[in-house]
Amino acid sequence: MQHFPIFMALAGRRVVVSGGGDAALAKLRLLLKTEAHLTVFAEEFAPEIASWATEGKLRLVPRAMVPGDALCAVLFYGANEDDAEDARTAALARADGAIVNIVDNLIDSQFITPAIVDRDPVTVAIGTEGAAPVLARAIKRDLEERLPATLGTLARIGKLFRSAVEALPMGRKRRDFWSEFYFKTGPQAIEEKGIKSVRPALEALLDQHLNAGEKEGHVDLVGAGPGDPDLLTLKARKALDEADVVIYDRLVSAEILELARREATMIDVGKEGFGRSVSQNEINDLLVQHAQNGAHVVRLKSGDPTVFGRLDEEIDACRAADISWRIVPGITAASAAVAGIGQSLTKRDRNASVRFLTGHDMKGFAEHDWRALARTGEVAAIYMGKKSSRFIQGRLLMHGADPATPVTVIENASRPEQRVVTAQLSDFADAITKADMKGPALVFYGLAPRAAQSVAAPIQPQEVAL
Ligand code: SAH
Repeated sequence: MQHFPIFMALAGRRVVVSGGGDAALAKLRLLLKTEAHLTVFAEEFAPEIASWATEGKLRLVPRAMVPGDALCAVLFYGANEDDAEDARTAALARADGAIVNIVDNLIDSQFITPAIVDRDPVTVAIGTEGAAPVLARAIKRDLEERLPATLGTLARIGKLFRSAVEALPMGRKRRDFWSEFYFKTGPQAIEEKGIKSVRPALEALLDQHLNAGEKEGHVDLVGAGPGDPDLLTLKARKALDEADVVIYDRLVSAEILELARREATMIDVGKEGFGRSVSQNEINDLLVQHAQNGAHVVRLKSGDPTVFGRLDEEIDACRAADISWRIVPGITAASAAVAGIGQSLTKRDRNASVRFLTGHDMKGFAEHDWRALARTGEVAAIYMGKKSSRFIQGRLLMHGADPATPVTVIENASRPEQRVVTAQLSDFADAITKADMKGPALVFYGLAPRAAQSVAAPIQPQEVAL
């Protein structure tokens, strides 16, 4: 991020604009929404600027800027539509201590003005650091359509009511009140009976919330998917949006954690390799404690929570404490990985079943029905199979599996760093070591990428760009 977005208090502060043409007009239209003291320097100026000056909305100085003209100004806009004049006036403004923007000149600007969606006092600022103005405009259009025009009105009425709402305890109770106001009671009141009815509706709603009993806690056991935030379910997003506490594993990607409600308490119980930094019992206790305090807890697990997720222990803990819980499924790593190699998990005349195996369990490397797996045509998605690759390889070969059986390893499935390594049963453990994989990896036994299948020569361990 090269530009840090902030909202600057401009009431009563000085802003200077140099220029009187279209560029200056565009900036002035935005600046006039603020309570800043505006001064415009321009030898020639559009009639609108002259009328604004007459109406007292800004001060117009009908000459070019000279040193000292931007003294005490916080912001300066060079909108001369002339590179030399922009450079000259910007240098003057900088010398006077103002922060400088030159219209359509990202490199020489110290700040940039975002695209704005205005529902004052709710303001959305969209910036692309000059990379994609088209994108900023599209996002703005989308938000303009999506945010009701009454949003600003509701926010203004709500703001005046804030102190009354302090009668509700801080945290969840207050949040629930406001969320019901902004998304249900407020819009409903405006639509049905007009703006005047909003205040009485607020008062009735507050009474209702003050007299409501204690809210019960709840635990959502949520699948975060393989890493790509677009692969989250809408239910998972909603749960993250409403969470008071998020308890998450190491494999949950940073982009997904970003989606949690800003005020949520984030607790990392990530496990490293074979051990957890926080024991399962401690995790169970955390879930129960927070839910007993009335929190909406989101237990966020990578992939699908029901696949190698130690879900049952957490459900048992909730049940023992009489806490309500729910499973929100997610896309498991096997689904994402198979998509990454352009294959399907099952295929007519190839494999009518697929096994999900773990490379290790609580006791160490996990034992399976190796003899059954060694038969031709078997497909298995092996989770946690990196460290156990030599063990798995040895067991399968020992039980008569064909050394040429394709094995594909997908690291960081669905993430930008996704890597695919193709190999055979005889050499996949070496291929994993050679590839020096740091990210989570899923091993497909009996499955090659669709792209590699068309290669006639025996498949060598290699990275395939798909
Ligand atoms: N509940 C998870 C699995 C947890 S076990 C799920 O349904 O996906 C952790 C293992 O999942 C990792 O060791 C790795 O084998 C696999 N895994 C998780 N995310 C992955 C990803 N993005 N790419 C490849 N494998 C992944």
